[in-house]
Amino acid sequence: MTFSTDVEHASPVNYHKTEKAKIFGRFSMPQLVAIASLILALFTALFLLTQLILNSLLIKQVRHTGLDWALQIEAQMPNMIKDPSDRSSSHLKLTAPESENLTELLQSMLSVGNIYQIDIINSDCFCELTFGGFYNNDTEIKISDGKLRHIFESEKAHSIKAHKDEASQNWPVDRNFLRNISDMKSSLVRIIRPKLDNMPQSFGEVYHPVYHMGKISYILRILVDIEKEEKKYTTVLYSLTFCVFLLVIAFSAVPTWKIKEARRCQKKANKETKYLSLHDTLTGLPNRASLYKSAQKIIDECKENDTEASFFHFDINNLKQINDYYGHMQGDKVICDFARILSSNLPNQSFLARLSGDEFILIAWDSGASKLALEKIRLTASEFKSKIIGQPQFLSINPSAGVAQYPNDGLLIDDLFQCCDLALQVAKGSTDKSIVSYSADIGSDFGQKIKLREEFERALKNSEIVPFYQPLVNIQEGKVAGFEALARWNHPELGLLSPGYFEALLNERDICQKLGLAMFDQIISDMKRWKKNGIKFERVALNITEGDLCNDAFPENIIEGLSKSNLMPECLTIEVTENCIFGAEKKDFIDKLQKLHDAGCGIALDDFGTGYSSVTQIKELPRTSVKIDRSFVKDVVKNTADQAIIFSLLNLGNSLDFKLILEGVENQNQLDLLYANGCIFIQGYYYSKPIPANSVPELIEHINSMKHSHLTSAKAA
Ligand code: C2E
Ligand code: CA
Ligand code: CA
Repeated sequence: MTFSTDVEHASPVNYHKTEKAKIFGRFSMPQLVAIASLILALFTALFLLTQLILNSLLIKQVRHTGLDWALQIEAQMPNMIKDPSDRSSSHLKLTAPESENLTELLQSMLSVGNIYQIDIINSDCFCELTFGGFYNNDTEIKISDGKLRHIFESEKAHSIKAHKDEASQNWPVDRNFLRNISDMKSSLVRIIRPKLDNMPQSFGEVYHPVYHMGKISYILRILVDIEKEEKKYTTVLYSLTFCVFLLVIAFSAVPTWKIKEARRCQKKANKETKYLSLHDTLTGLPNRASLYKSAQKIIDECKENDTEASFFHFDINNLKQINDYYGHMQGDKVICDFARILSSNLPNQSFLARLSGDEFILIAWDSGASKLALEKIRLTASEFKSKIIGQPQFLSINPSAGVAQYPNDGLLIDDLFQCCDLALQVAKGSTDKSIVSYSADIGSDFGQKIKLREEFERALKNSEIVPFYQPLVNIQEGKVAGFEALARWNHPELGLLSPGYFEALLNERDICQKLGLAMFDQIISDMKRWKKNGIKFERVALNITEGDLCNDAFPENIIEGLSKSNLMPECLTIEVTENCIFGAEKKDFIDKLQKLHDAGCGIALDDFGTGYSSVTQIKELPRTSVKIDRSFVKDVVKNTADQAIIFSLLNLGNSLDFKLILEGVENQNQLDLLYANGCIFIQGYYYSKPIPANSVPELIEHINSMKHSHLTSAKAA
């Protein structure tokens, strides 16, 4: 079976690599075609505009040059012009001085250099005189008389016939054009680009009508050289056009680019949002949301192919302590190291996600993959180490895992997750197993715990939880030095139950808080009554947990409760274990204990020797006594190591000013040894098991008046 998910094992690094966009990849083919067409259209429009401007500039130039000359010729022509209605005399008539003047004028015109040709065209659109020509600008012109014939024969001038010959060096008169404009009122200028060999590339044509008796008698046509000007204007104009083209492209490209860029950023942001919604930012692994999606797909596939899948739920046991002790940066590093080690070389048919904090889920949906995954987890669980930031040492990390199987342990994701979570809880509580597979027993244990919690809460409401009191005895004086209040459940069906019965609930903060309040209220009322009856109970110790200490009003409630009942704060000792005040809230908890200590309450560090047993902890805590766990007392008579610990703590107590209380003293031998070595306070079955409140006065009476054997034997000795 193959299974793929879009979120599988993606890492932020890979993601950013794929994000590198290619410029052309940003445009689709139709977009590219549209952009190219736009550029082409713009280019064409600019080209045409340039041509238009160029032509108008050239026309201006031609008009300026040609028209001046045309007017001068016109001024020379009054006598030689014919009556246009007189068709019989169709030729120009030139007298000698006229001819000379005209010759002179024309010669000076042609010698200036920018006039190619001068034509005098009659009203029938026939050219009567043609001077110059494209290659004859330096021609010497002679007009000896008014006979057109003569001029025709002139070796330098060219005949009207020439216009029929395209290859002629002269530019022919366009008679059709002339006929069309024969009623012209003023001069007309146009630019000609003949595109013929042996011809200039361009020149200007000036048509200037010469009127006689209200009618056009002649048209003067002057061809003006504009090649130089055209070159000059073309260079300037095309450069300008090119600049404009570039500017337009740049200005239109910038907003387009910006829009494109904004869209690209939006797309990238959407992609990133999608990535973040499905991935854990710390490890880059798929997150809870993508885990549920993928788990459902895996289950669907398994169902279809009738195969199994293994669900592994991990947890790093001591992460809280690592965070508290080394800081959150080290905690994050441990999580990342753990994720990296787990995700490297995972079988193909597996999916790893970070659920939250230090919790990970691995799903393997192939029997081979499941075995490989289990093997890897075993190895990780036994060998995982993380380097301490800024130090050469490594931290040993103990992960635990719970395993559930599809379809044996459940068919639905939630059921499977719950099963592997329950198995994980068992693994975490186990001293020898780091990986536990789910079984029906685990499920029923869990169900029982839920039932137990419900029952216990009901019991608290019904005042079924009552304090029993165990005496604390000053063995040097043989007197009761106080009592420890220990909770008992007066169960309506099962009878009197010790905390062992509800021990599983004692790590739940809210339950402990409720228990603490219930116990305190009853202790207060018992002490009030004893006080009223003149019973010398000395002090009572109340056991508290993190649940009590995380209540901000805890110290105030205690102090207020005592004062309301007219009880001195010294009447109450708060017993707290080291484990409760180790963690992120340590400072806050110590502050609260300090408040109680300052008010006069006793603070006892309970079960010393079972937790971290740090002497620093003793030093930091506001405390009046330290209670050595009964496991040290149990074999104290034979075990010299236990003796050494107890006696050195006794010395420490003397120097640090705290009382050392030894719990679990059950027999005479223990008592004698402890007494002989200077122990003062003991607690244990030797004197009494915990007893109900109404038996306390009698017990005090009994202990205070009993003949203590150790005292007697000591006295005898
Ligand atoms: P702990 O605070 O260490 O209490 C002492 C436990 O040792 C008590 O067990 C007591 O009955 C037992 N013990 C005392 N002397 C001897 C002895 O000579 N031999 C033996 N074998 N046992 C002895 P208990 O009453 O079952 O309480 C167990 C634990 O339950 C307590 O340990 C304490 O951690 C918790 N606990 C009891 N009452 C309360 C309470 O009111 N609130 C909270 N939060 N925890 C409580
Ligand atoms: Ca205790
Ligand atoms: Ca204890």
